[in-house]
Amino acid sequence: MCPRAREQLSQTGTEAEPTAGYTSEMPRLLVIEDDATIGSTLSSALAANGYTVTLCATGRAGMAAARADAPDLVLLDLGLPDVDGLFVCRELRGMLPSAVIVVLTARDAQLDIVSGLESGADDYLVKPFVVIELLARIRAHLRRSSGTAAESASIPLQFGSLRVDIASRRVLVGGAEVELRAREFDLLARFAREPSVAIRREELMADVWDSNWFGSTKTLDVHVAALRRRLRLAAEAAGGDALSTLPEIVTLRGHGYRMDTAPAGS
Ligand code: CA
Repeated sequence: MCPRAREQLSQTGTEAEPTAGYTSEMPRLLVIEDDATIGSTLSSALAANGYTVTLCATGRAGMAAARADAPDLVLLDLGLPDVDGLFVCRELRGMLPSAVIVVLTARDAQLDIVSGLESGADDYLVKPFVVIELLARIRAHLRRSSGTAAESASIPLQFGSLRVDIASRRVLVGGAEVELRAREFDLLARFAREPSVAIRREELMADVWDSNWFGSTKTLDVHVAALRRRLRLAAEAAGGDALSTLPEIVTLRGHGYRMDTAPAGS
């Protein structure tokens, strides 16, 4: 059996206020790590940040815990004493299709990283890593995956003449369907989830492309330009007030983009 880390927040003298936006259902994390020091450091840091954490020291125990607990996110060390970490990764991916899997690898193990991603991992961290960075990645992953879960039940979002139906991946402008490429749709869906909010370039790249993106973010600008063009053309074709009520994707120099839902002059 794998120990579950105590929730330390409730142990500190004053009554902890529930954090806004959190419900009683805290994300469940599974840590599979045979190094006792790393394992306990990780699980106490995660528990201190409000996660429910189960720590397992072997691959077999980790797979059993995954089956029993259905965690939202798994931190998986690839160098395990009993089974090949990549095998564990593939097994976890099979039994937890929607969970986030982050593999932990030794320094410079490029082959491990590639194999891990090919085995179904969503992200990786190279040891030694900074806990702050790990926490930031976990938050980003859980935010993204909860967005995905909410999407399936979501009703279409309407912004002026623009209608975005994330569940069916359909976009309408002035009532007419617009054909978007997959990444253009993902980008629009990302804007639609947070209208009027300034979103950093790095965050868009991480959410729409991949958190392991090493290339130029020029790709982002190209896709935004194409998205704007397609939406504008559709609005022009639809006529009426479709163009004047079309949300505008605004460039924020040195920061990112923001989708304004009430364009100036409308
Ligand atoms: Ca290890």
